Amino acid sequence: MDTSNAPYMILNGKVVPFAEARIHCLAPAVTYGANVFEGLRAYWNADDGQLYVFRVEEHLDRLFYSAKVMRIEHPWTREDFRNGLLELLRVNEVKESVHMRIHLYVDEDGFMTATSPGGMFISCVFRPTSKIAMQGCRAQVSSWTRISDNASPPRVKSAANYFNGRLASLQAKSDGYDTAILLSETGRVTEGPGACLFIVRDGRIVTPDVSNDILESITRATLIEGAKEWLGLDVEQRPIARTELYAADEVFFCGTGQEVLPVVEVDRFPVGTGTVGPITAELQRRYFGVARGTDTAHPDWRTPVYV
Ligand code: PMP
Repeated sequence: MDTSNAPYMILNGKVVPFAEARIHCLAPAVTYGANVFEGLRAYWNADDGQLYVFRVEEHLDRLFYSAKVMRIEHPWTREDFRNGLLELLRVNEVKESVHMRIHLYVDEDGFMTATSPGGMFISCVFRPTSKIAMQGCRAQVSSWTRISDNASPPRVKSAANYFNGRLASLQAKSDGYDTAILLSETGRVTEGPGACLFIVRDGRIVTPDVSNDILESITRATLIEGAKEWLGLDVEQRPIARTELYAADEVFFCGTGQEVLPVVEVDRFPVGTGTVGPITAELQRRYFGVARGTDTAHPDWRTPVYV
């Protein structure tokens, strides 16, 4: 991937050089996965001379929800995280697209049930849109099952959940695919290792409803609202069977990191014509417009960094 780390990070509320952002190897964040996080993007808008962070408040809502379920105790407020994000972008003098992570975890050392002391860091990585976002990716339906709500809830964005997606990704790559689609314990389509999934059939857009062992994705919510607003289409939220992937005219992933990523092949079956479909392409174009602020609708979704 064409990425590089910004020179500074935030560790426990303070700006530190990248090399000094370290935590103890016995922290429950490391030994027991007591670690929740968010991935956000900021987009540079050259016309406005402004950097916009996309949907900060929704990411903070989800971060606090994840920390609540994992019972992580910490002293930081929403304002601390919001100010930290903005401070980090300013101190790194960012004027291009970046991906940021906020991690909130159990620090120092402790047993499996330790809930404090809380630790946090915020990172910033220069990360342009991937080349594959334009040409589309090839996905494999994984033989690994998606973790379920009553075991390791995917709705909680915990680092530990990524073990499941990692297994599926590694298998997909070693089998010659770009990425994976995971099925639930009941065999329904869930999501990819780091992105939610939509299909288009006969002009209807469909995505698994949130009781199908998925992360409640902010990009998914953006596209559900966007499909109505931009294309006049209601998105159907319902369980999706595996073979609907093979019947679909279009398939795409969505997520903060992957943005809107077309899927042109599933299990070596071409999706539709085997090229990026028109609904996917239009949603992608409109998504970039609203995230970058070249489309001025939804100003509440963009937090400007420079004053
Ligand atoms: N599912 C998983 C498992 C993810 O890791 C992500 C990335 N955060 C998503 C879906 C997409 O979520 P969002 O649109 O909020 O980034």
